[in-house]
Amino acid sequence: MDFLETPLDAPWLNVLAMLVAAIIGGLLGGAIVLRSWRRLQPETHWTERARVCFAAQAFLATAPAFALVYAAFYCGALRYFAHEPWLHLGALVFAAWLGAIIGSLPLRSRWRKRRVGLVEALEESGTTIVLRSLGTYVFLVMAAALVGHGFDLAAVIIMVVALGTVFVFVTHGGVPLLRFLGMLTPASPRIESIVRQVAERSGSLAPQAYTLRWSPANAMAFPFVFAVAVTPALEKILTDEELLAVISHEFEHLRETRAQKLTRLLGIPSLFCLFSSPVWMKEFGLAGLIMANAIVCVAARMLGRFSRQMETQADAQAKREHEDPKIYAGALEKLYEHNLVPAVHQGKHSHPNLYDRLLAVGFTPAYPRPKAPSRVANRFALIILIACLAASQFAVFRGMDAWASR
Ligand SMILES: [Zn+2]
Repeated sequence: MDFLETPLDAPWLNVLAMLVAAIIGGLLGGAIVLRSWRRLQPETHWTERARVCFAAQAFLATAPAFALVYAAFYCGALRYFAHEPWLHLGALVFAAWLGAIIGSLPLRSRWRKRRVGLVEALEESGTTIVLRSLGTYVFLVMAAALVGHGFDLAAVIIMVVALGTVFVFVTHGGVPLLRFLGMLTPASPRIESIVRQVAERSGSLAPQAYTLRWSPANAMAFPFVFAVAVTPALEKILTDEELLAVISHEFEHLRETRAQKLTRLLGIPSLFCLFSSPVWMKEFGLAGLIMANAIVCVAARMLGRFSRQMETQADAQAKREHEDPKIYAGALEKLYEHNLVPAVHQGKHSHPNLYDRLLAVGFTPAYPRPKAPSRVANRFALIILIACLAASQFAVFRGMDAWASR
């Protein structure tokens, strides 16, 4: 890596190259994941459509994040070997994220079946980051700031600030931030009254009800602040009785015990271990890195199992709301169909598979268990995207070398 040992002479050229490469990578990746999609017929059952479109959906959801994380690691190396200024590194990371979003605009438009502009795509990607992985990005910034540090005072301060920020966000600060950003607004009278009904039936206080400005059809519980949120799409596609069942599923999450809530927080220290790797590496070398990764792997497995148990328990409660299991099952199916989420996935996730959830609430679907979608196309598309980013920087360095030795 001798090219990393010299400071970069043309920072804005690097940033431009990163942006263009991310756009090209996004376009190429989008073309790859679209290939299987073309085989679909209009009459295909939604589970098969979801299976075939999975690669495209996964690419849309993960490409900007992958580009951003790759650029962050690359910048960590630049900071370590070449002491590049923070402004340059920040611009490189932003260019990778922005470029991947611009590059996937054609795919996003096909997915939504209408033209999606850049502002809408940026908003969507930003919302997903804030909702799903803000903590991870705070830790990513922490990791970048820790590069080159051992276990010294500065490192301890950086780690405490990052850990505290993530903890506050995940527990109580998340809702005020989302409200401040305009992503959470007071719920409609319809949702308010359904939430009150659910609370009355279980003899407890009614939680705060919100509308969440997010495109998928979904509902969410915020157990630490006793609140639930429903997206406009979900409110639109479900009947009142179906909403009642879905909200009682979320309500069950609010009623988790203190021990169960604390278990959910275990993800924070485990991610913290991973992202403080620069310090462990500096102190303990490769052994430190392996340790940090091992802790995360074990914690992720345990948390996955715990989360699936909690989902099954909440589903059981939602089913009890109506005598007919078809109502909750129908709501779940509508939600998955609207979001085109496959009914069966490869491997294990935070939620059990839809097909198994339906069987567990006593409803047997009219169709056989669908096959899980392949992950090959999405992975290949992501590799192409990252290869474009890496190639762009390599080309800039080579070009500058050639220019300098003329
Ligand atoms: Zn749930």
